[in-house]
Amino acid sequence: TQAHVDAVTRAKQLNCYIVETPEKALDMAKAADARLARGEGGALEGLPLGIKDLYCTDGVQTTAASHILEGFVPRYESTVTSNLWRDGAVMLGKLNLDEFAMGSSNETSYFGPVVSPWRRNGSDAKIVPGGSSGGSSAAVAAHLCLGATATDTGGSIRQPAAFTGTVGIKPTYGRCSRWGIVAFASSLDQAGPITRNVRDCAIMLRSMAGHDLKDTTSVDAPVPDYEKAVGASVKGKVIGIPREYRLDGLSPEIAALWDRGIDWLRAAGAEIRDISLPHTRHALPAYYIVAPAEASSNLARYDGIRYGLRKTGKDIVDLYEKTRAEGFGKEVRRRIMIGTYVLSAGYYDAYYLRAQKIRSLIKRDFDLAYEAGVDAILTPATPSPAFAQGEKGSADPVEMYLNDVFTVTVNMAGLPGLVVPAGLSSDGLPLGLQLIGRPFEEETLFSLGEAIE
Ligand code: GLN
Repeated sequence: TQAHVDAVTRAKQLNCYIVETPEKALDMAKAADARLARGEGGALEGLPLGIKDLYCTDGVQTTAASHILEGFVPRYESTVTSNLWRDGAVMLGKLNLDEFAMGSSNETSYFGPVVSPWRRNGSDAKIVPGGSSGGSSAAVAAHLCLGATATDTGGSIRQPAAFTGTVGIKPTYGRCSRWGIVAFASSLDQAGPITRNVRDCAIMLRSMAGHDLKDTTSVDAPVPDYEKAVGASVKGKVIGIPREYRLDGLSPEIAALWDRGIDWLRAAGAEIRDISLPHTRHALPAYYIVAPAEASSNLARYDGIRYGLRKTGKDIVDLYEKTRAEGFGKEVRRRIMIGTYVLSAGYYDAYYLRAQKIRSLIKRDFDLAYEAGVDAILTPATPSPAFAQGEKGSADPVEMYLNDVFTVTVNMAGLPGLVVPAGLSSDGLPLGLQLIGRPFEEETLFSLGEAIE
């Protein structure tokens, strides 16, 4: 823990942490030492972790990287972080993210962008760590924690993992409790870990997961010992290769990476099968209706009265308006406007309802593939390697949204998705592959992920 605390202090230029909690970390580490000396101790005893600043932490500022929550100190602890502390983990601090987890490059944070520890060959340009869990992915990649919590609404665990050469899993919807995690789009949000290898990911998820009476969407099912699945044989597993993910204009480099992944799994004994997920191309536009719709509703609570920032106004409505205008950043305001628009009486049927129907069709595509015997699906994680700060999305936000083309389907269908590092781009940046599983069969993903890693 001391070594990590020192490393965090030395690596301020990456801007991974919004709040550092060194005293708390050393206290927790001492308590862990005492438990270990007594022959006690949990699965994560003494392991120093970073916590995405979307998880409420009792007595420690929680901001969702937004000005509107600056100074908000929860008096309660999220279920997932409570589970980690129960198993002996140590908290190093709160990790930076895109504001309210909206973004794919960690450039929308009120506390400034996170910088990836990676660089392109022969270039000093600052590279983005992905988003929204960019603080988590960069901190894990730069050894500023052993593992980190993250969240994934449309790719925010998997895309940053792919951009930084780390491992991340979005578990099945309902696997982890969402209680005490700042809500973005409640029907899509899931907690999960980012780590440096598949085994760590399995160990950390086991602690994070489990039923919770405080989240009615969390599922009452036993949590398997995921670590046992790491290294297990994948012989005979049927791997679907969805033809619709071979997008027009898919870069040759990404196509070659995907082919290499197929070869590795075949060499490990898996059976490769071409499959079709016909509604794939509608997933991204439908996601960018459903997610902002739910966000506009969830973010209505930030009124300047209950949490964080409060501007003065001539009356209560003026106070709300001033607080929200100043408190929310540009991307968050854009999402709220899209969300309220697609939910409004005149446009609900044309946009929101239609997007929900598309969502059912996407889910059915996966169901049919799994019913036909497919155990897991292999796809690229991202359409490109990480890009430089300021390179994408400033003129046209859709350019940034396109990053999520391979990841949003998984959230729309509520499935588990694991991203593992699978190689480097021609300019020396990490590339990841994604494995999509059957509901609640994260174990299969860990076995396959280990075979690729
Ligand atoms: N990049 C996507 C978005 O901006 C996904 C974010 C997330 O998974 N939290 O909505």
